[in-house]
Amino acid sequence: MKLLEGKNVIITGASRGIGKGIARVFAQHGANIAFTYSASEAPALELEEELKGMGVNAKAYKSNAASYEESEKLIADVLNDFDGTIDVLINNAGITKDNLLMRMSEADFDQVIDINLKSVFNMTKAAQRTFLKQRKGSIINMSSVVGVKGNAGQANYAASKAGMIGFTKSIALELGSRNIRCNAIAPGFIETEMTGKLDEKVVQGWRDAIPLKRGGSTEDIANACLFFASDLSSYVTGQVLNVDGGMLT
Ligand code: NAP
Repeated sequence: MKLLEGKNVIITGASRGIGKGIARVFAQHGANIAFTYSASEAPALELEEELKGMGVNAKAYKSNAASYEESEKLIADVLNDFDGTIDVLINNAGITKDNLLMRMSEADFDQVIDINLKSVFNMTKAAQRTFLKQRKGSIINMSSVVGVKGNAGQANYAASKAGMIGFTKSIALELGSRNIRCNAIAPGFIETEMTGKLDEKVVQGWRDAIPLKRGGSTEDIANACLFFASDLSSYVTGQVLNVDGGMLT
């Protein structure tokens, strides 16, 4: 059964990793995919072709999620390129700039907050008018278990991801009466380029400590997004779903 046939979906940061995994699973379910990247043009254009080959409409946009101006332009371009509607917005773009507070620069704090958290304000505000006009929409914010629990060496990242949870619950309260839902996913340890930078010994230690004894895949996250994006979750809003192999249990 295709759960998203003909739906228009925007995903920020889908040139690789979790965003790319979501794009693939959603296209298998019949969704048209508008997605962004910031620098990785060649992989983004490759993904655009791959998705089109799956029989859906797809387009890659170079757009900095940290810029409100670019986010507004992106929404206008997507409305123009995809039949004037947006069904699902996935705020997925994110970066890490890890360091202990003692060594963390102001610039690294600000950049992580801007790309991970301010971006969610930018995109949600820019898309809001369309959702209100349609009287429907699903917004999914990619938080992290680190935003729930905190993590030494990631004060900037944890603050951005915790902020996304507060934003998610507030928007669920603001927009629920218009049939616009807003939920967050808190992935645990997912094996992508972001986590590929980490020391293999440390990573193996994490795998061993996870109740399900493995890191998550991008499909694991995409499947949770599928639930929040589709009518399967039509009575669910303001929630944070940990997809972490039991890590926070
Ligand atoms: P990733 O492999 O590093 O991919 C990040 C994506 O975001 C790339 O497509 C990148 O595009 C894009 N991006 C970065 N800065 C951007 C900007 N300013 N504007 C637009 N796009 C931008 O990361 P990932 O592991 O897939 O993570 C995706 C999301 O899940 C992030 O929000 C991350 O915090 C969250 N998450 C990940 C894990 C994990 O274990 N991997 C766990 C919890 C939460 P370019 O390549 O063009 O820069």
